[in-house]
Amino acid sequence: MPKINILSINLRNQIAAGEVVERPASVVKELIENSIDAGSYRIHIEIVRAGKKLIKVSDNGEGMDREDAILAVERYATSKIREERDLSTISTMGFRGEALSSIAAVSKMRMVTALKDARPSTDAMALGQFHSMVGTCIEMIGGEIIAVKDCPSIGTSLEVRELFFNTPARRKFLKSDTTENNHIIDVVTREALSHYAIAFILQVDNDEILNLPDAKTLKERLVQIYGLEFVQELIETRAESHHMVIWAFLGKPTNVRNNRSNQYLYINRRPVRDQTITHAVYKAYEEFIPREKHPVYFIFLEVDPAKIDVNIHPTKREVRFEDARSVFNFVYQAVTSTVGNRLSGIHNKDRTIIGGSEGKRLGEPESENLISTVPDRFAEGSLQQISETMSTYMEGIPFSYLGDTFVAISANNGLTLIDYHAAHERINYERFLNRANLSSNKLLFPQQVTLPINEYKLILENTELIDEFGMEVEDFGQGTLIIRSIPDILKTADLRIIMSDMAASLANRDLGNDRGSRITAPDNKELNVKLDTAEEIVPIAADPLIATRKIIAAKLACHASIRGKEIPDSARLASLIRDLDSTDYPDYCPHGRPTRIFISVDDLRKMFKK
Ligand code: ADP
Ligand code: MG
Repeated sequence: MPKINILSINLRNQIAAGEVVERPASVVKELIENSIDAGSYRIHIEIVRAGKKLIKVSDNGEGMDREDAILAVERYATSKIREERDLSTISTMGFRGEALSSIAAVSKMRMVTALKDARPSTDAMALGQFHSMVGTCIEMIGGEIIAVKDCPSIGTSLEVRELFFNTPARRKFLKSDTTENNHIIDVVTREALSHYAIAFILQVDNDEILNLPDAKTLKERLVQIYGLEFVQELIETRAESHHMVIWAFLGKPTNVRNNRSNQYLYINRRPVRDQTITHAVYKAYEEFIPREKHPVYFIFLEVDPAKIDVNIHPTKREVRFEDARSVFNFVYQAVTSTVGNRLSGIHNKDRTIIGGSEGKRLGEPESENLISTVPDRFAEGSLQQISETMSTYMEGIPFSYLGDTFVAISANNGLTLIDYHAAHERINYERFLNRANLSSNKLLFPQQVTLPINEYKLILENTELIDEFGMEVEDFGQGTLIIRSIPDILKTADLRIIMSDMAASLANRDLGNDRGSRITAPDNKELNVKLDTAEEIVPIAADPLIATRKIIAAKLACHASIRGKEIPDSARLASLIRDLDSTDYPDYCPHGRPTRIFISVDDLRKMFKK
């Protein structure tokens, strides 16, 4: 009896489906891309229970006749390529012929379609219905066709019910409805941006989440999704080279984020992830934004299809370039010349002294990376008088600014390196959590903030908790929030960026513990932490309410804290160190990164091999 079996077609399809259909959002992506390829100008997406119960995508595209409709659900069935050389001239979103068969294999699927130019019946003509009344309906369960019927239709409509009903392991890995819905909204937003001429409607549990009429320009579509205020903060640019065109909306260096949300990259209108381009963009921004910040960008790259391989990932979210170096250089040049041009010199102007004499500009530093301030009264040799503990650190003590957010001070018979942004975050975080010294003020002019729909919903779901921190947020409808009051320490912060950042953290809250790691807090209590997309560490508490409170407090604290490239004066530094000492966990910021590192003279002796 042989040990080897040839797997049944059904099982083969189920296994293959695992690659294409990771979660409900992958179904939505494939179906939308099919509708785009069918030349639709209106796509309607309906979701019930985060796509676990129903995903329905209807379009007004070219449709299929019965013969094609039956073929379409077979594996490797495509109308988009015929032979190998077609792979180098692909201009459609799909070409692998796997999506429909994969989706059908793991769901109960119903497809209704009719060819657009099929001759309408006389009755239909009389009723003014010029689309075909003689369509096809195919019903399938777990990849098997169970019925083929006549069914009138305009365009194509795909209903996918009970996704993963026959693959319980996959079903178990689905996240909460909120998380899965967020993935769906993200997919629809990404597709809607690169295909702005198509109207999109997204309905989730009978709620119309997105309604995007066809737009004439990408900018118009960006405004539909993000609001004018956000789009005005972007710089539009376009550049061309031999084989490539880049067209982008780039965030100004003042409009940065704490995570990678709001970064969109398309190659030949396909949403992708790509290390080469990401590196080029970060390299271009490097000079203008603090190291821990992330730029906002919408980049559309058009590359000669012969110069890329789009067939390296089952969901087509990656591509391979024939000449990655020239792509890197091209993108880097385009982004630096745009961002650099508009804001040349910003990094010097940003070096402001904080505290003490407010707003005073520091002259051009002698050396780019080292600014030392040694007040007169600390004459040479007096460093040893520095007190025993950090908490008695006195105003006027010499410190050295090392660059970025780092200062060094000599204390306790050694060297203390402080990340003053992290330190300030810890102080503000505990202040927020303990609601200590938090006065909040009504804004004279309540501020409107428009957010993309998923971020807007996440904020609305948490307004009560956000209110606890002195931030009164109200719904103004259509993706717009009204902020009526804010805590004093946030009065100079950008409320739009705070809201958007907070939403991104809330969205990542239940990303799952699979990517989690653990760190040990200074008092040896174990803290549960996880990494979100931005590799940011967010504490998780067992109680979801407490966890959410902590996320909000951490975000607010971050925005209330001293930014990079500002240099504290010694009075400010002294009070920062005093405040840090009085926190519960002075050695770590709320994200688990160190706030200060001490190197004793003993350590130094060892380092110098003495
Ligand atoms: P691919 O998109 O890679 O060709 P799919 O499995 O997604 O493969 O679809 C198979 C074929 O079914 C497509 O090539 C197309 O001819 C047809 N098809 C799928 N969806 C639609 C639709 N919404 N409208 C018209 N034709 C469609
Ligand atoms: Mg397809």
